[in-house]
Amino acid sequence: MVLLFAERSDDELFRQALAFARGLDGDQLHAVGIDDADGYSPDGWASALAQLIRERAPGAVLSPGSERGNEVLAHVAAQLDLPFAANCVSVAPGDPLTVTRVRWGGSLLEEARLHGSPALVTVAPHAVAADTTGVEVELVGPAPEAQTRMSERLEAVSAGVSLADADVVVSGGRGVGSAEGFVIIEELADLLGGAVGCSRAVTSAGWRPHTDQVGQTGTKISPSLYIACGISGATQHMAGCKGAKKLLAINPDREASIFANADYVVIGDLHEVVPAISAEIRRTRGG
Ligand SMILES: Cc1cc2nc3c(=O)[nH]c(=O)nc-3n(C[C@H](O)[C@H](O)[C@H](O)COP(=O)(O)OP(=O)(O)OC[C@H]3O[C@@H](n4cnc5c(N)ncnc54)[C@H](O)[C@@H]3O)c2cc1C
Repeated sequence: MVLLFAERSDDELFRQALAFARGLDGDQLHAVGIDDADGYSPDGWASALAQLIRERAPGAVLSPGSERGNEVLAHVAAQLDLPFAANCVSVAPGDPLTVTRVRWGGSLLEEARLHGSPALVTVAPHAVAADTTGVEVELVGPAPEAQTRMSERLEAVSAGVSLADADVVVSGGRGVGSAEGFVIIEELADLLGGAVGCSRAVTSAGWRPHTDQVGQTGTKISPSLYIACGISGATQHMAGCKGAKKLLAINPDREASIFANADYVVIGDLHEVVPAISAEIRRTRGG
């Protein structure tokens, strides 16, 4: 029997995970959600699932590879001392279960065998087409011993367009040199009606907040134009911007790996190039 954890039962990721689960065992599939009016509790939700696993002894437990799906199954794995494979794109039934999963921000596919029962698996977003037939979701209560609970969700306050939705993103990396250096990046983003992004080197240095970070552990963006200034092009950064339609990279290092993915390249110092682009935009607009 396959147990499918529904963090939400009405979204695309759940329907994709449903299709994935049906491929594993179409006959014995049970979908469960957590009946928790008080909000989200990763360890509480995991305890409820762990209890269900003890009672029903499924062969596999699947979940959409959403932020919560991954977090809850990681807690289940810790509570039951089971192996857990996140971000799987395919699965072959058997004992042990063989999965193929995405690693390193999409640059590596790993084949793994899961020893232990049940196998805990989350499904990588868009690994399979969504199932459109739907399924009945049984609600189970959260375990009382939850130790952590989300009490409030704070959204980042931004004056302009959000990073995830922006049609143009101008990002700065370590090459910007300082928090103050971002004035020219902000100016160009403003002129283009876009948002400011950055690399992890920048958030680690405390020059920009984490909400501005593009990449594997930041925001995934797909603007029409991505302007990367002083960014080397590490795979973890590219994992967040590979959806961009066009990429302009500004870097003095001819060997910078970002150039391999760029549509337009300027080999030069961003402190000269970026203000020059802004000045040219103003000039052509007559301002
Ligand atoms: C598990 C994990 C997750 C990660 N997640 C992310 C993530 O989500 N996002 C992310 O960005 N990184 C992430 N990283 C870090 C990533 O590996 C790189 O370390 C990081 O992206 C480097 O940032 P950078 O390109 O700004 O800095 P660097 O690699 O130091 O590159 C700076 C670039 O600036 C150029 N430069 C210097 N001076 C100038 C100048 N005057 N004008 C123009 N260019 C100049 C240099 O030539 C160089 O190419 C992750 C790493 C790990 C291990």
